[in-house]
Amino acid sequence: MSGHDDPIDLRSDTVTRPSTAMREAARNAPVGDDVYGEDPTVAELEARAAGLLGKADALFVPSGTMGNQIAVRAHTERGQELLLDRESHIYRWELGGTAQHAQVQCRTVDASERCVPTPEQISEAFVAEDLHRPGTGLVTLENTHNYRGGVAVPESHVDAACDAAHALGVPVHLDGARLWNAAVALDTAPAALAREADSVMACLSKGLGAPVGSVLAGTESFVDEARRLRKLFGGGMRQAGMIAAPGLEALDNVDRLADDHENARRLATGLDAIDGLRVPTPETNIVVVDSEPAGITSDAFVEGCVARGVRCGSVSEYTTRLCTNLDVDRADVDAAIDRIGRVVRAATE
Ligand SMILES: *Cc1c(COP(=O)(O)O)cnc(C)c1O
Repeated sequence: MSGHDDPIDLRSDTVTRPSTAMREAARNAPVGDDVYGEDPTVAELEARAAGLLGKADALFVPSGTMGNQIAVRAHTERGQELLLDRESHIYRWELGGTAQHAQVQCRTVDASERCVPTPEQISEAFVAEDLHRPGTGLVTLENTHNYRGGVAVPESHVDAACDAAHALGVPVHLDGARLWNAAVALDTAPAALAREADSVMACLSKGLGAPVGSVLAGTESFVDEARRLRKLFGGGMRQAGMIAAPGLEALDNVDRLADDHENARRLATGLDAIDGLRVPTPETNIVVVDSEPAGITSDAFVEGCVARGVRCGSVSEYTTRLCTNLDVDRADVDAAIDRIGRVVRAATE
């Protein structure tokens, strides 16, 4: 919890500091050279992550972005098309890496209905390879869906998208940066949400609170190829048990994500009660505030919040994102509501 006048940091769930237990785990971790496959702590993390995600094997990667980029490259041939939602993290927030690392072309669909493309959208956007067309090489899905407001996509919709892709002979990668949040919100297992996907990436450094790292899981042969590509991308790490050990601790934080979700609902309810703000009830830990009724642009809103000790991030002209996390408790949420109320009143009086 933050002190009385400390800034409350709601920019992201990535801003958390590692716990004492994580720091102790790093300090005491047995390590070896992981590029030689000799780090027992990394091996333990990979085995545990593979089990939780229901895949044969998993690979520890420095970031979610690297996990996604490796997956796109591993599943595709140069020149193919990647089919994905136009609001996907992979499409919008990874520097167009798919064009650089995998040399694929993105074909986007508007998945606003389900947050993952519907089977009809997949069959319509699918491109069969011929003399003129490159062929669809991969479909990617995202769960929870970050820029659509932390929506937890139910298993039936994920499975339907996977089935539609597979019927066309196209593999599926699941960007599960916050798959743990989706599983908790839907009261299911992460493995159930990833069952039909050929590969899945999940972050340890978001809601779970690890300082570094993500995992990329799939079949043994997929992970073998991913391991080669991680080396190619400069992500082969040596005594990485030092950062894998906090990751193992982080996996114990899955169930407590329910607290973040409850705090997010409390925050949304409190903010929605402020005149001039429109705040839908969040499904997970991402709260999206619309300040257009108050006539406050998101940039002005963020600036006002920062001045009163609440950090948050602009998403579009009138919408702002606030993300509950491990370092923010209920008292912080109540303080944030109070401070933001003052921001809005000061701007509208
Ligand atoms: C954060 C995020 C990523 C990337 O993870 P980094 O560890 O920040 O590189 C990928 N996809 C989604 C949906 C994310 O929210």
